[in-house]
Amino acid sequence: MAQQPIAFIDLKAQQRRLGDRIPRAIQRVLDHGQFIMGPEVRELEEKLSEFSGAGHVITCASGTDALLMALMAHGTGPGDAVFVPSFTFVATAEAVALLGATPVFVDVEADSFLLDVTRLDAALATATRSGLNPRGIIPVDLFGQPADYMEINRFAGQHGLFVIGDGAQSFGAELDGNRVGALTQVTATSFFPAKPLGCYGDGGALFTDDDELAGKLRSLRVHGKGTDKYDNVNIGINGRLDTIQAAILLEKLSIFEKEIALRDQVAKRYATLLENLVDVPVIRQGRTSVWAQYTITTDHRDTVVQELKRQGIPSAVYYPAPLHRQTAYEGYPRAPDLTISECLPARVLSLPMHPYLEEEAQSRICDIIRQAL
Ligand SMILES: *Cc1c(COP(=O)(O)O)cnc(C)c1O
Repeated sequence: MAQQPIAFIDLKAQQRRLGDRIPRAIQRVLDHGQFIMGPEVRELEEKLSEFSGAGHVITCASGTDALLMALMAHGTGPGDAVFVPSFTFVATAEAVALLGATPVFVDVEADSFLLDVTRLDAALATATRSGLNPRGIIPVDLFGQPADYMEINRFAGQHGLFVIGDGAQSFGAELDGNRVGALTQVTATSFFPAKPLGCYGDGGALFTDDDELAGKLRSLRVHGKGTDKYDNVNIGINGRLDTIQAAILLEKLSIFEKEIALRDQVAKRYATLLENLVDVPVIRQGRTSVWAQYTITTDHRDTVVQELKRQGIPSAVYYPAPLHRQTAYEGYPRAPDLTISECLPARVLSLPMHPYLEEEAQSRICDIIRQAL
């Protein structure tokens, strides 16, 4: 008998679980016709605020726009240095570069994949030596685990830097009992379909407790509006979340808590099955992950990929190159040592991960990995 195909991320299983709730939510938007900033947008912002513990939530058109708007709100521009990990998705550095500011690449930790806080001093010196004005840090909660915000917030405070958390992969995760969105001055997240909480298109949000920053972000989202849309007090963007996407997210948010628990179960099973075979991801004390990716590391990565592929199991390499090696970014300054970011691309492998991944499928995946090794 042919085996069931295994999905990398199974959005169909989630659809089945939600039944007709999403089509009905979409139909409600079609009926009221407020496609831009309709009532679902406001409702979603309230629910996200409740969920995260952040005082203000500003939804927007994508995770990239969220980062961009946060940088704009801080007035980031030419001559400014913003510290970003080199091992991340390109959007983290792209938003900085788009504003004419300079991303300064910093190394990550080998086992958690998170920004290595001990490297920030050297990065700061590099920026200053390059004649730049150090302005901020964008830590990335890579693969779903919050960065070390305690230390990063402290470092930023000491040096007068802003912090923008890139929580595109971590919405729903916790650090010391507080959720992403409430861990630093301002946090950006993404609702791209493959993220832990995803819509059916592009979407994102910003989280902050700072009233003034929130006001600025709301203005930037709609062309820098003042009291109304034709009173322009800032140079902004068209960065709104579609009402239809908000309606979809409201339905998905209602099962998100359960899905986070399921994701964690899947991760725990992987950790047991893969123990002593490969290096499994490390979650730091006091933190949880929402497992945007389940990323293992092994010296025999390519052998494992080939065998999984031969047996019809999807896997992915996040990320195949550090940003400081990418054509568009190789000219930017870097902290002195980026060894880990350089080594990881050859060793990482992300395995199928979603809340509905069954034990049997996981056993099959891990058996193949064992065979390959
Ligand atoms: C997905 C992602 C983004 C960008 O989000 P979009 O919604 O796709 O624009 C930014 N940073 C990280 C780390 C991401 O994974």
